[in-house]
Amino acid sequence: MKLILATNNAHKMREIFEILGSDFPEMTTMKQAGLDIDVVEDGDTFQANAIKKAETVLRESGFPAALADDSGLIVDALDGAPGVYSARYAGEGHDDNENNAKLMRDMSGVPRERRTCRFASAVALARTGKETVCVLGTVEGILLPEPRGTNGFGYDPYFYYPPFGKSFAELSAEEKNSVSHRKRALEALQEILRRENA
Ligand code: IMP
Repeated sequence: MKLILATNNAHKMREIFEILGSDFPEMTTMKQAGLDIDVVEDGDTFQANAIKKAETVLRESGFPAALADDSGLIVDALDGAPGVYSARYAGEGHDDNENNAKLMRDMSGVPRERRTCRFASAVALARTGKETVCVLGTVEGILLPEPRGTNGFGYDPYFYYPPFGKSFAELSAEEKNSVSHRKRALEALQEILRRENA
């Protein structure tokens, strides 16, 4: 199936390619398709934003299928923040470093037992003539007070994953892609497609 990825985030694109590439060898990026649109992420949930991105890019691209990921970090001690605002936690136009700095300021003094958090990824697949499918994947972790590791992106250096005893930024791409929220969402999507084709 010809598929366009409804994201301009190079890190997400790489992870989605690594996880799904063998199922969708014809995956195209918006850049490759010459599509320059920025979908406003104004939904209250990851799912609403993922569906909006996938359906907008499906419509604008003329491709038969579009796949979008909307994701972020949910911190229990912050009542779920940054949540859907993960990409712009420190304000519009701010980068990962500034988002992480704000997160550390907001969490300063919070003891380890109250630093539970999870990554969530909503993945939506929009297809011509079919109802959009949307699935959610999550992975539980502990928010570190100091960054560890240099791999990955976004909040990865602060996301400690107890089963591996490492932060996500200390994992190889293969390790992260074997347990991440994105992997879990994409796996659920693969299962739905397998059932559709059975
Ligand atoms: P989105 O483009 O609105 O989905 O933004 C997602 C934001 O959440 C990113 O900019 C990152 O800050 C954060 N995020 C999502 N997935 C990950 C991940 O796998 N690792 C680290 N940060 C992530």
